[in-house]
Amino acid sequence: MTPMLQQYLVIKAQNPDAVLFYRMGDFYEMFLEDAELAAPILQIALTSRNKNDEAPIPMCGVPHHSAAVYIRKLVEKGYKVAVCEQVEDPSTAKGVVKREVVRVVTPGVQTEPEALRDDQSNFVSCISLVGDRYGLAYLDVSTGDFRSTSVGSLLSTLDEFGRVSPAELLLDVEFDPGSEDQAFAVATSSVVVTRVGLSSFDLAQNAALLRKKLAVENLEGLGIADSPEQISAAASVLRYVMETQKNDIGHVTELRTYRLSDAMILDESAKRNLELLESLSRKSRRGSLIDVLDHTATAMGARLLREWICRPLLKARPILERLDAVEELAEGIALRETVIDLLKKVYDLERLNARVALARAHPRDLLALRDSFQSLPALQEYLLEFHSSLLKRISTSLDTLDDLGEMIAKTIRDDAPISLAEGGVIRKGVDPELDRYLDATRNNKEWIAALEAREKAATGIPSLKVGYNKVFGYYIEITRAHFDKVPPEYIRKQTLVNAERFITEELKDRETIILEAREKQTRLEHDLFVSLRESLAVHSSRIRSTAELLARLDVLASLAHAAQLNGYVKPRILDTGEISIREGRHPVVEKSLPPGEFVPNDMRLDMDGDQILVVTGPNMAGKSTILRQTALITLMAQIGSFVPALEAEIGLVDRIFTRIGASDDLFRGYSTFMIEMVETATIVHQSTPRSLVILDEIGRGTSTVDGLSIAWAVVEYLHNRRGRGVKTLFATHYHELTGLSRLLPRVKNFNIAVKEWQGNVLFLRKLVRGGASHSYGIEVARLAGLPRSIIDRSREILGELESCGLPELSGLLPGKTRRSAGSRSRQVPFEFLEKEPGPLEKRLDELNPDMLSPREAMHVLYELKQLLGKTP
Ligand code: ADP
Repeated sequence: MTPMLQQYLVIKAQNPDAVLFYRMGDFYEMFLEDAELAAPILQIALTSRNKNDEAPIPMCGVPHHSAAVYIRKLVEKGYKVAVCEQVEDPSTAKGVVKREVVRVVTPGVQTEPEALRDDQSNFVSCISLVGDRYGLAYLDVSTGDFRSTSVGSLLSTLDEFGRVSPAELLLDVEFDPGSEDQAFAVATSSVVVTRVGLSSFDLAQNAALLRKKLAVENLEGLGIADSPEQISAAASVLRYVMETQKNDIGHVTELRTYRLSDAMILDESAKRNLELLESLSRKSRRGSLIDVLDHTATAMGARLLREWICRPLLKARPILERLDAVEELAEGIALRETVIDLLKKVYDLERLNARVALARAHPRDLLALRDSFQSLPALQEYLLEFHSSLLKRISTSLDTLDDLGEMIAKTIRDDAPISLAEGGVIRKGVDPELDRYLDATRNNKEWIAALEAREKAATGIPSLKVGYNKVFGYYIEITRAHFDKVPPEYIRKQTLVNAERFITEELKDRETIILEAREKQTRLEHDLFVSLRESLAVHSSRIRSTAELLARLDVLASLAHAAQLNGYVKPRILDTGEISIREGRHPVVEKSLPPGEFVPNDMRLDMDGDQILVVTGPNMAGKSTILRQTALITLMAQIGSFVPALEAEIGLVDRIFTRIGASDDLFRGYSTFMIEMVETATIVHQSTPRSLVILDEIGRGTSTVDGLSIAWAVVEYLHNRRGRGVKTLFATHYHELTGLSRLLPRVKNFNIAVKEWQGNVLFLRKLVRGGASHSYGIEVARLAGLPRSIIDRSREILGELESCGLPELSGLLPGKTRRSAGSRSRQVPFEFLEKEPGPLEKRLDELNPDMLSPREAMHVLYELKQLLGKTP
């Protein structure tokens, strides 16, 4: 085994769960299992070292300058990458060059812009159980955003986890979700879970780490002194990030603790069903609420808008503050556009700031900071013209960071390259020693030009030129035609197709001087740059505060722009349990239709007569749309946005529950019906009189009778919940459910009107009082293009079923579950369940399959067939 391989194995053993990128010259090499794992993912050739040995060592490699792309590919697949650099100069090293892992890139800990989405945070999180409470902490190292909360149950923790949707989850090696293992598996199915030894650090150690990192005397101010679960989770996240970054992450200076009750809870299914961030069908941003609302000018704004959408507010005051600011920005069009234009010149300050603190910012990053700061004074001036309290607060607290901008402007050249390696970064006049080098460089250039002129004259070769390349250094180049004139003191260095390159003693001596000066210059520039970067890092919390204010301004302007573009109105916020919307529209569906084609609808929900609306109507009538639009309008109002309606009064809700459509492809291993029931269980357990519940078709995933019975019972339960009931919109194609309104005082029937016209069904899209008379399923099937023969036959069967009742249906149709007589509940008030069994059922009931010979069985089959009276 070579010494290099020995070194490799030692470092690999210290990073067993990461793919090791081992720096060798201009490449990162991977060996052994790492190579075998990475080569196919990275689509690079798997070769081997010592090919002719008995056991050749598999290896593959990637060029160091494009490593970021390859690292990203591995991390996207859920792997971690340990980047191992040469930490001493190979030319002076004795033996194997010293190497160290300088950082570990994991799905939740990334800082490279190429690996991150501008409009999304990238959190690494930790769930820690202490006693009977769960701490949830999460940190985005690319921005410094660090938060934690404490939760009483694992299920609620998972809801919050889903809302935050981190990229990586740290868990104690022993953590066991117990009876919640199914919910746990669902919630963490798209997250990389890293097991760590949380319990190897005690409370005192964790608290000490937090105090030190956040520079506080005690944790009381943060409100977590009595919350060991939060202390443990937050400290574990910090420790993990510091270890992987090999850095003390100076930009992480603040931990924001919060309570779940500070914001509306939006669980994973609400986020998904209301298509807040992505559409259900295409799984893309198109067709989502955020797509309609997002007109942000900065990446920070885009991320914050996402957060606002997932964290609607619960208290009237902050909502009204946002609404007032949006109103002002919506009305002041010219001013808003100026503000947006200025915001567009601001780069991603949060991420640039993080890169400065992590010592990873390059010269162009600092120029981007400088350019961003330059728009701030003007921005502040324009903001002074606004009067709403929130905009006023933003303008008065905005730190325009002039001093930092000046610091950069004074030091960094406008044409500085990305890389520090070649110099050309620092301005003249910054450092006297550097100025001397810069002068020397200029002199050297002149000296070279003079040499070229002199040699041209001496040799009489007009095309003679002096050049430089990295491998051969300085040379005099002479084309083939003039070879006969090359003076004898020229020493041949390199042969090209049409020319020869030479060196002279004089040029060689000068080269040494030039290269030495250049090396000193780049080293000095490097040091000066690093020291500037460090001075900026000291101010990282100032930069962060400014970034946050700009993000908020950006989101408010974006909401104002969306409001104006789409004709939204300012909702009135009520403290009663009432939601009243006049001519409401679905913000996304209306965009997918030609202007003016969306039919607006009124909607009223309260705690008295109109608490539970049972909405019937044929498929495709628009039931889902009206349900979702009511939820979306409520949610938009609570994030502080204007809403798509003519008028809206929104009584604040504490949570929006959804149970919508089939989502069987979402979680492998769960049936559609199981997911439906899990979602329904959440609603009946957790809804309060202040909640809004959207139920679209409960019980579709099971037999008609089961489904109908469950749906009936759920409505009864919600009606009587805590004696006051829960505001509920219930869409169903079981028109039997309209019977509920006769029994329960706060249940009302509505339907979406359709008109039969010349044998066709016309969808009017209007929500009207009263139940639907029938379900029009066959007409919709015809519209969908089912063959005429099937449509006619369906009408025939329907006619028969309507005359003979549902039990016959169960007996007749293959695949339908037939309930045994004993399991029928006498309380279910559906008359069809009480019907006598038909002749076919009676005959079947008499049979005992165990007593039949094969021959008899055949016989009975024919008999049953005859009883059926038809051949399908
Ligand atoms: P359902 O839930 O009753 O099956 P959907 O709500 O899914 O029906 O609506 C079906 C389609 O009808 C929608 O995709 C949309 O294109 C259209 N639609 C629904 N509501 C309206 C409306 N108010 N105005 C215009 N088109 C509508």
